Amino acid sequence: MFDRLSSLIIALTLIAVAAIFAGMAGGDPLSIILLMLAGIAASLVVHSALPTPLPDARTDGLTQPADAPLPSLLRHPDFAHWADQEKEPLLGVADNVVTIVNDAAVRLLGRHIVGADVRTAIRHPAATDWLSRTDGSAEAQTINLMDFPRPGQRWTMRIAALSGSESIIFLVDRSLLDAADRMRSDFVANASHELRTPLAAILGYVETLQDMNGEADAPTRHRFLSIIDREARRMQQLVIDLLSISRVEADRFRRPTAHVDLAAIVRSTIAQLQDSENPRAKDIVVRLDDTPQPMLGDEAQLGQLAHNVISNAMKYGRSGTPVTVELLPAGNRVRLSVSDEGDGIAPDHLPRLTERFYRVDEARSRSVGGTGLGLAIVKHISERHQGQLAIESELGKGTRVSVTFPLATEV
Ligand code: ADP
Repeated sequence: MFDRLSSLIIALTLIAVAAIFAGMAGGDPLSIILLMLAGIAASLVVHSALPTPLPDARTDGLTQPADAPLPSLLRHPDFAHWADQEKEPLLGVADNVVTIVNDAAVRLLGRHIVGADVRTAIRHPAATDWLSRTDGSAEAQTINLMDFPRPGQRWTMRIAALSGSESIIFLVDRSLLDAADRMRSDFVANASHELRTPLAAILGYVETLQDMNGEADAPTRHRFLSIIDREARRMQQLVIDLLSISRVEADRFRRPTAHVDLAAIVRSTIAQLQDSENPRAKDIVVRLDDTPQPMLGDEAQLGQLAHNVISNAMKYGRSGTPVTVELLPAGNRVRLSVSDEGDGIAPDHLPRLTERFYRVDEARSRSVGGTGLGLAIVKHISERHQGQLAIESELGKGTRVSVTFPLATEV
């Protein structure tokens, strides 16, 4: 109700008034003086025991002179704690000197930057230029640091101004995003190139036939028409594979929920291949028993995975050699394994085989009707089904592609 000083003044006034009345009532002056001294002493004891009020944060600024320095956010004990939890690098700067950095900034720029001029801490021309601006335009804007800290990388830098001459600099790594963008545009360029090649052949042969104006003999016409047919089918297969890969990519984060039997899916894929006119179909050796292999999956996608791996073995294995398809249970998992006896793949190519349009031998892939997308599709389907893809190969001997899937407990 009263503040500490007012309470003391009121207590002393009451003692004085009581002493005056005691004197007027004819009290003993010595007793009155002793009682007054005791009262004053009691008031002082109570006053000193009262708690000192905390400064009011909201009114504190108002009571300070306008030019009094505000408390520093950078020196607040919670600041370092918060900054270290941030994954991206950040630097606290006062008067252009780096005063505090988080762990991520230390990893990026080194511990020596604490105490250094911020323009030497972030060594990049665009950063130096931006940080040297004194007109305030550098604040709250994002700038690109190309080739920072190494060639080919890109970071962005943003400055958040605090009070006085303090600021926080945020650095964000954009290199991965850029790589994803590049992959997307490379993919469009590659797909267009793949489509343009057969299209150019089709247009060329149609034009030649038109120019011949019906004068072409039957064998020539037949030859040209079969080239047109082959190239049109190549385009058709490419469009089918492009649609598949975009569908599979779109489903990437949706776990399959249907109960399916992998053994039945593989059997039906083999039956389809055996029904085709492919002369290699007779070389398929099936090592499957009647045991169902229950798993959570997308039937069409698993069928496509099996089809791509088996047809690769048929394409790249030597003609007349077996293409062996097995399902091997391993605890609570099952492994689909397809082996061929072909030229095999050199070890340096193995990690890149699942990249879109990557081929070991482009001419060979084209001659057997490959699109370069088969194993990329296999990889995506396998990942969606929590499968593990393994490609083992020995030059001159052959290749084994296997995918291991977790089994479901019930179908
Ligand atoms: P493609 O349509 O060209 O067959 P894939 O993505 O299915 O494309 O395979 C990529 C490349 O991997 C193929 O071009 C081929 O060079 C190589 N490859 C795939 N499977 C085999 C295999 N069983 N034996 C040898 N090489 C293979």
